[in-house]
Amino acid sequence: MSQRTPLDRELSKTVSLHVDQLVATISQVVRENIAIQVTEYLSSRALGSGRLAELREGRRNVRGCIAPGCSNPSKGPRFRYLCQQHKNASKKEVEAWREASRGHGAPKNGVAAAAVAGRAQSRRKVRRDMSCIAPNCKNVSKGPRFRYLCAKHLNAPKKACEAWRAARRG
Ligand SMILES: [Zn+2]
Ligand SMILES: [Zn+2]
Repeated sequence: MSQRTPLDRELSKTVSLHVDQLVATISQVVRENIAIQVTEYLSSRALGSGRLAELREGRRNVRGCIAPGCSNPSKGPRFRYLCQQHKNASKKEVEAWREASRGHGAPKNGVAAAAVAGRAQSRRKVRRDMSCIAPNCKNVSKGPRFRYLCAKHLNAPKKACEAWRAARRG
């Protein structure tokens, strides 16, 4: 004896129709999401490579031909930073151009000098930091793990250490 009535059959047909629609809708949404993600991914990649090209362009500009008014990229240090067109220039000419381009490079030298000064400064700081913070103590401290104290002052009370540190800072 079958339990299936015409109503049952109608119901199951409707349900399966809706399920099919649901599956179609979900898969479309998923596909759209993936499409958006792929588009975003690709556009971010394109942006990244654009930035890279910009960087490369910038580097090429820095190493341009040193001949005055020449905007060609140079062939590098082996060609005295001259382009294809100027690489056979006379030594005297090249010397003059280099002198002129060195003049333009003054701020660059300034930056280099500052970097050197900064390095010297940090070296000095490191050396100062490595000495014991106790007043009038010339011993080398055992480092940050020992609150910048030497072996002799290692067991100094915390309050004293704080006072010494404050005195050194101020
Ligand atoms: Zn040139
Ligand atoms: Zn000490």
